[in-house]
Amino acid sequence: MLIRFFFFVFSLGFCQCDPHKNGNNKNHFARDRSPEQEIPVLCYHNIKSELDHHAPELTVTDSVFRIQIKMLADSGYHTVTADELYNYLTRGSALPSKPIMLSFDDSHEEHFSIADKEMKKYGFKGVFFVETIVINKPNYLTSQEIKTLADEGNTIACHTYDHPLVTRLKDDEWLKELDEPRKLLEKISGKVVDYFAYPYGAWNEQAIEELKKRGIKAAFQLSELQDPRDPLFTIRRIMVSDKWPMTKLNQEIHSAFNKKFLAYSRPK
Ligand SMILES: [Zn+2]
Repeated sequence: MLIRFFFFVFSLGFCQCDPHKNGNNKNHFARDRSPEQEIPVLCYHNIKSELDHHAPELTVTDSVFRIQIKMLADSGYHTVTADELYNYLTRGSALPSKPIMLSFDDSHEEHFSIADKEMKKYGFKGVFFVETIVINKPNYLTSQEIKTLADEGNTIACHTYDHPLVTRLKDDEWLKELDEPRKLLEKISGKVVDYFAYPYGAWNEQAIEELKKRGIKAAFQLSELQDPRDPLFTIRRIMVSDKWPMTKLNQEIHSAFNKKFLAYSRPK
């Protein structure tokens, strides 16, 4: 297992350079893929009609989002759920050809009204990391929308109650920031909530221990280097920029996890 994850972190063998090679055959399972190949995970936050003052790494315009999703579908990518990724990473379970995970942080309403609607056109599924304090507030997901996303086969996952730096949480604060929001999401979605994303991508050893103690199966950061001691709890994601042309997105999908520099600074 340790060896597998060592390669998972450092493998240079991910690139599938011909985007059209496998077409759109959803029944084709790449059973010959070696388990050390890393699966790209894209991370979206805001999806707005205009970029305005928003940072392009935290906001993509809806037109760019639609183009990116279409490009992934046209290129033969197939989305995977958090369970499928977990089973692949821990047991080497088969995945569809050209697997990719699409994840959405911070419970924005457009994750339902734009992202889900767009993904459904191509049979794509997403992983939605919800912070529960904003549920049913204006411009954020409603309980009903979360339930619909879960019913459609998307993954509902935990992103704390009110988005703190979990690296600074005291023992008793984990109840408020993980146990209670997780229970609420399970009640709303009717599904078990097993996955977690660190607010600001910030993690440390203590936070990982708390997640493990509470039965979280895997946790996602942003784009920092993975911890080789706990790769399942420091799964990396690509922060998609609104400013990337399609060639750049393709390039990032193929190479982001091999970068030796940090693509996103962790708040101290
Ligand atoms: Zn967040």
